[in-house]
Amino acid sequence: MSNFELPDRVNPYQLADKKSELSGEINAQRLKRLDDVTEGVTESAQTTLSFDLDDSGRRVITGHVQGAADVLCQRCLKAFNYKLEGSFNLALVYYDEMAKALPAHLDSLLLLPDEPLDVASIVEDELLLCLPMHAMHPEGECHIETHFGADESGEVPERANPFDVLKDLK
Ligand SMILES: [Zn+2]
Repeated sequence: MSNFELPDRVNPYQLADKKSELSGEINAQRLKRLDDVTEGVTESAQTTLSFDLDDSGRRVITGHVQGAADVLCQRCLKAFNYKLEGSFNLALVYYDEMAKALPAHLDSLLLLPDEPLDVASIVEDELLLCLPMHAMHPEGECHIETHFGADESGEVPERANPFDVLKDLK
């Protein structure tokens, strides 16, 4: 992907009328809200925004974002890097009735026709939605061994044989 840093503000109505695409990145320093609710943003957000007119003449923004942040594992309370990736479909609206009339696949973005769009904010909104409710290490990578002893099935957990480790080394 390109290293083009996306502008702070654009006119989305003009871009939609011209059917434009913006592709580039949002530097991690521009993602303050994401940085605040995580252990830190670790990458620039790779972003593609397509501004277009849909079949009904609505001005729409289709976005795809990819980023990463350190999050705390809720099981062992250690930080690990979590990849964030999401897509969104926004329709530009300038009054409430327009928003109510939108089909289900479109979310409304209330903005007057001469009002600039804060590009980083819609990218950051999507990345925030990608955060897990309860972050946890992938299976087997957690720093806490969770053994609950003999469970309901009556099985006794297998005790590790210290020599098994040596066998694997060969
Ligand atoms: Zn963990």
